[in-house]
Amino acid sequence: MQGEERRELAGWKWNQTYSQLPELFFQRCLPSPVRAPRFLIFNRSLAQELGLKPDLLEQPEMAEYFTGNQIFPGADPLAQAYAGHQFGHFNGLGDGRAILLGEHQDPSGKKWDIQLKGPGRTPYSRGGDGRAAVAPMLREYLISEAMQALGIPTTRSLAVTATGENIQRQTLQAGAVLTRVAASHIRVGSFQWAAAHQDTPALKALMKYTALRHFPEIDPEDALGFLSAVMERQIDLIVHWMRVGFVHGVMNTDNMALSGETIDYGPCAFLDAYDSKSVFSSIDHAGRYAFGHQSHIARWNLARFAETLLPLIHPDRPAAVEAATMLLETYDPLFQERWLAMMRKKIGLQTEEKTDKNFIEDLLDRMEKSGADYTQTFRALSEESALESSPFSQSLLSDWHSLWQQRQARQNAEPNQISDAMKQINPAVIPRNHLVENALQSGEKGDLSPFHELLQVLATPYEIPCDPIYTQAAPIGSEKYVTYCGT
Ligand code: AMP
Ligand code: MG
Repeated sequence: MQGEERRELAGWKWNQTYSQLPELFFQRCLPSPVRAPRFLIFNRSLAQELGLKPDLLEQPEMAEYFTGNQIFPGADPLAQAYAGHQFGHFNGLGDGRAILLGEHQDPSGKKWDIQLKGPGRTPYSRGGDGRAAVAPMLREYLISEAMQALGIPTTRSLAVTATGENIQRQTLQAGAVLTRVAASHIRVGSFQWAAAHQDTPALKALMKYTALRHFPEIDPEDALGFLSAVMERQIDLIVHWMRVGFVHGVMNTDNMALSGETIDYGPCAFLDAYDSKSVFSSIDHAGRYAFGHQSHIARWNLARFAETLLPLIHPDRPAAVEAATMLLETYDPLFQERWLAMMRKKIGLQTEEKTDKNFIEDLLDRMEKSGADYTQTFRALSEESALESSPFSQSLLSDWHSLWQQRQARQNAEPNQISDAMKQINPAVIPRNHLVENALQSGEKGDLSPFHELLQVLATPYEIPCDPIYTQAAPIGSEKYVTYCGT
């Protein structure tokens, strides 16, 4: 079978509704060809979920399409325009190293953005080369798939292809293209772009488009209802991050997707020892995007989002500001409520007592003081033998455990059932930073076996893996983990 036939049969159903928005929001452009496209990894199960045929798409010659050397017929490549507050500073941005091929409709009728990340320069590239390196793209693939398996809304990764070309970073690195699948790539920054151009009709068109695509339950012209729906989805997302110890690392407004999916796996990392001030990114000196600060930052980003919507909320600006402010004031209590509900589940509480919040904060405080591993602590709590294992063998935590047993006794629930429920919400395995780094370093050198092994374990994160290396914390004495942006 020739490439042409394979492509036809692969199951694509292309559309490009984004290009129907005002021209302010995008510019058509094509990927720049690369020398020697080759698959590094292809996500067969995701392809199947999307109604695509992995056997056909994974053929070596199809790598041409996944690097952008060839374009799937029906795709309509464009770069999206957006702005963003980066570490608090406003900039005009846009897809500088990404090209949206179009939307694919899966067999259930749902539309998915298919985007190439690293396909060369676009009209928004500014000084950049529009390219990406192998290790960071493999990293995005691994972490996004891990997040999906953890049950957290996220963009997905369909493939990583090597380009056969080197790119200049601090050192010369092998280039790669990631095929990203997302509910959409509309960001807070997309709205900021329209607002910065003071283009209210464009803003209104974008709101309507986004509401119809992601919030079909609301009136697409009701800006306050829209703000509220976006806010709720962000709260749910950040509560998930807090559940598994995820630090996004670069919560700029251009990296906050309105769909409520986690997007842009740059300097992200997972907590080992619990410390609410944990920061991994090399450039986040002030701790702006620290683990425990993520809820505040989401609220700050939503305030910037609300500002863009003011002309649509009410024609009279003070009235619009008042309505938006009143809504944003519900953020903190709502976040607290959902965070507490999630934490109650983490420690197996099915009833509510007034002191639960203090009780949970006391646990976190003790964990912080004793350097307890975040993942291991909650997982151990669901085991009968908790007191024999490391976090709870320390007195700070064993004392809390006695209080927890008393609290458990008061809820009169079946211990096995509680323990089973806890094991569904507290992962045994997360992408531990040292394991991710090890897998990527091997992958960069051409050996993808540690990467595949890790990926397989991360596919079932609530099960105890056969090999204990996947549940162990970084060896004592490991260097502090540092992640980097713009790689
Ligand atoms: P990010 O840190 O990936 O969220 O990117 C922030 C902004 O920088 C976005 O507008 C990107 O498109 C742009 N950008 C990042 N890397 C590159 C690159 N290599 N070439 C061009 N633009 C880039
Ligand atoms: Mg980004």
